[in-house]
Amino acid sequence: LFLGSRYESTAAASDSANQPTPPAEKYEYQAEVSRLMDLIVNSLYSNKEVFLRELISNASDALDKLRYLSVTEPLLLKDAVDLNIRIQTDKDNGIITITDSGIGMTRQELVDCLGTIAQSGTAKFLKAVKESKDAGTDNNLIGQFGVGFYSAFLVSDKVVVSTKSPKSDKQYVWEGEANASSYTIREETDPESLIPRGTRLTLYLKRDDKGFAHPERIEKLVKNYSQFVSFPIYTWQEKG
Ligand code: ADP
Ligand code: MG
Repeated sequence: LFLGSRYESTAAASDSANQPTPPAEKYEYQAEVSRLMDLIVNSLYSNKEVFLRELISNASDALDKLRYLSVTEPLLLKDAVDLNIRIQTDKDNGIITITDSGIGMTRQELVDCLGTIAQSGTAKFLKAVKESKDAGTDNNLIGQFGVGFYSAFLVSDKVVVSTKSPKSDKQYVWEGEANASSYTIREETDPESLIPRGTRLTLYLKRDDKGFAHPERIEKLVKNYSQFVSFPIYTWQEKG
């Protein structure tokens, strides 16, 4: 267990203060994603805790990509050398924050990755649901296939992804809500939220799932599901 404070953001924040903030842009989900989101949000699937495994696995993939690319491009590491995953819980407000110092996403990558289904596993899942007579209720399928990023909505009303790719000089914020057919993307303008590189997911937990925002619960899930992740995973709680 690592009890630490928020890390300092090194990205320049002062410049943006005088400039008008571009408005958030709204995007419709690809039809398959909408279908998937419906299934997830309305699912009776009880093993909701798989969300953490999925999100940690994405963080780990992003760190792997960065590490791989940094072999030939060592400058990629310049803003933050440490490759790790930090999970912060705020039990009073029912919020979990998962931050990685991985490859991050550009604005276009946010649209491509979190608004469409690129993942073959998810496509198979949808096919299986279609074939299943109990579509929408036979939710063991969610656990069987793993629904990736969207599994965040098993436990969250709202998910905010703030991400900074080394390919972009700007940090972008993707915001999606359960039961919505669209999501938004805007520039990150809050100086407190700027990260040198990587991705921070903020999960606003559903009322009945706020119990996940306890460090002990998170640590147990990390031990059970993510013990083979090859990057350090730190957990700490917001000071009350
Ligand atoms: P998969 O991991 O199987 O590709 P997911 O639904 O879990 O499918 O994630 C979709 C995509 O979103 C990933 O392939 C990746 O490109 C992007 N992504 C998700 N989380 C992160 C992250 N923490 N950092 C960078 N990219 C991410
Ligand atoms: Mg994944």
